[in-house]
Amino acid sequence: MRRGVALFVAVIALVALSSGTFRSMERADVIVPGPGVTATARLSDYFAPLAGSPGETPVYVLDSGNPGGTVVILGGTHADELAGKLAAVLVVENAVARQGRLLVIPEANASASTHTLPLEGHPQRVFIPLPDGSERTFKLGSRVTNPLHQWPDPIVYVHAASGQELAGSDARNLNRNYPGRPDGSLTEQVAYAIQQLVVQEEADLVIDLHEASPEYPVINTIVAHPRAMDLAAWVALEVQMEGMSLGLEPSPESLRGLIHRELGDQTSALVVLMESANPAQGRLRGKTDADLVLEGQDPNYVKAARIGRLYVPFDEGGHPLSERVARHITGLQSFLRNLGLFGEDQEVVVEGLPSYAELAGSDLGRFLQGAEPTEH
Ligand SMILES: [Zn+2]
Repeated sequence: MRRGVALFVAVIALVALSSGTFRSMERADVIVPGPGVTATARLSDYFAPLAGSPGETPVYVLDSGNPGGTVVILGGTHADELAGKLAAVLVVENAVARQGRLLVIPEANASASTHTLPLEGHPQRVFIPLPDGSERTFKLGSRVTNPLHQWPDPIVYVHAASGQELAGSDARNLNRNYPGRPDGSLTEQVAYAIQQLVVQEEADLVIDLHEASPEYPVINTIVAHPRAMDLAAWVALEVQMEGMSLGLEPSPESLRGLIHRELGDQTSALVVLMESANPAQGRLRGKTDADLVLEGQDPNYVKAARIGRLYVPFDEGGHPLSERVARHITGLQSFLRNLGLFGEDQEVVVEGLPSYAELAGSDLGRFLQGAEPTEH
């Protein structure tokens, strides 16, 4: 009996402790608006029912006040793909628009950033040291919406607009839910709100930032809607000439629900997605911890590269987060620089973003603001 009571107390204590850990992921990361941020909107400004829901998330506006193109940048569509989110954060904290404007959503699926994927052993957050000795912390969320916010999954997920059938858990995958539905699931509503933002703001270009495992064929690549192919090819060539290899894939015709397919077909925006290589997402990885996410080094992947099993080079240096963010920032800057060549009055000029050489291999913390807003 006494053992029963002791066990009961121990279970209650464990539940209390772990629920505290779970709740800590509900707190949003601190993002410090930099000198170029002219307004902070919310996703619910474009679809009111999202207000107060786990799908609500900030939209940072960097408006030059001068005519030009409008570019939407998304990070955190898949919240475990940290380079996408960090690249978006770097834009918010460093970029200043001189012509045209940017709308940046660092956590496109905010619900996905409130939990980790089951059975992956991922850390809940990473810590990035700043030059002054302090640090910034960023959550490492999940690929999909939190099941506490959308449950149960259907056995088969049917994409509403096409009738395409996918695995049940893809019902919570934002990048299988476009163009979304106003009366649909939370994930469909978030997709719908982003579609509404693109339409209402008359976006010329949408860039969705992702990562994937080194053994995934679509890696270090742009995926572009057919209308965005000319611009994307120009970008791929330009960054190649700067020494960064970046592939180019067309948006598949038959796979529905993807942002480049659906918003490319249904809005006037050019829509592209970029992928960098993250070993923390791979099936071949060994020890899984915050170092793997930050340093991107894994001896298993060095072996896999040696026997030709990967789609990216992989040596002992790995692919650190700073290099993966540098790839996104470099590709993104090339898109911004060249958008004006592909449409009238779409010129965008943005200053303040670091170059590939400044970012890759450097301390990411150099390009993050202190926790308190600082003057530039
Ligand atoms: Zn992704």
